[in-house]
Amino acid sequence: MQANEKTNQFEVIIIGGSYAGLSAGLSLGRTLRKVLIIDAGMPCNKQTPYSHNFLTQDGVCPSDIAALGKAQVAKYGSVSFFNGLALQAQQQLDKFEITCDTGVRFYASKLILATGIKDIIPDIKGFPACWGKSVVHCPYCHGFEFRNKRAALYSSGEKAMHMASLLSHLNPQLTIIQDGKEAFTDTQMAALNRQNIEIINKEVAEFIHQDGALKTVLFQDNSQMDFEVLYATLDFVPHSDIAMQLGCDLYENNHIKIDSFQQTSIPGVYACGDNSSPMRSVANAVATGNLIGAMVNKALTGEVF
Ligand SMILES: Cc1cc2nc3c(=O)[nH]c(=O)nc-3n(C[C@H](O)[C@H](O)[C@H](O)COP(=O)(O)OP(=O)(O)OC[C@H]3O[C@@H](n4cnc5c(N)ncnc54)[C@H](O)[C@@H]3O)c2cc1C
Repeated sequence: MQANEKTNQFEVIIIGGSYAGLSAGLSLGRTLRKVLIIDAGMPCNKQTPYSHNFLTQDGVCPSDIAALGKAQVAKYGSVSFFNGLALQAQQQLDKFEITCDTGVRFYASKLILATGIKDIIPDIKGFPACWGKSVVHCPYCHGFEFRNKRAALYSSGEKAMHMASLLSHLNPQLTIIQDGKEAFTDTQMAALNRQNIEIINKEVAEFIHQDGALKTVLFQDNSQMDFEVLYATLDFVPHSDIAMQLGCDLYENNHIKIDSFQQTSIPGVYACGDNSSPMRSVANAVATGNLIGAMVNKALTGEVF
């Protein structure tokens, strides 16, 4: 899209054009809203070969789902797309000004943040190459494919307890490799022992793999163990700092605070998808994007009716 003074005013700007942003764009396009979707093309699941657990698209390549979504949204003439990074957001009297990496500025009275999150990938050899392939984060996304395989869980504390409870049903042979972030309490240890879950407290030196398929975990003391899958509970940061620039409240874990209508603490700014939800899935991103489309359209309608 070529931007100039005449074309840079919109009713709604959506930052992030992956599943959540496209879903919001679809609802708003269908209600004849003039929308701009700004997207830098870096969804969090970019490296995973197949996406699961989203009805009608189970086992499909993630970028194919997004491409089909974009093609369907693009049919609605009031929705425009801009490929680039939104760098700055400023609240003016009755609108928001968004400045992109090329310096171009766009304006709208409503802003939707569909920016996702960024996993903090541990600085351990082999981890980045396996991420999304055999080192994964979610039993609903990957559990069926890795069922009954020799599995490790790289985690600790409360997060490990939650994940272990889900995985023990899928992977009877489960080993927890403690990531050193939090210690287990005696009660937690007793619960893990009751489930025959092995607990290793050694530092990992390398995840040895073949083309992203995990083979062996090598520890700093040179001992090693073979696994076919490793689940990891990673910390994350917001993919974009735009919510912080605008002063939106965040939770301690970095999710944007929203109400049940996807509205953030700043009037006129909404958030959907991974950036504001603990349920991390394509289906949830699409669902919250769908809801936000209706909420923003309702807000715009309410201003004139
Ligand atoms: C490895 C992995 C595998 C997964 N597998 C599955 C699976 O099998 N099934 C499933 O349901 N879920 C899966 N998920 C979860 C799923 O990918 C996410 O829940 C989903 O992508 C969230 O969608 P989203 O639109 O909120 O964010 P994202 O898909 O992460 O997209 C955010 C978009 O916003 C853009 N963006 C961010 N900031 C800016 C900015 N300032 N300017 C412009 N653009 C910006 C990014 O470039 C990106 O395109 C997986 C996640 C990971 C990490």
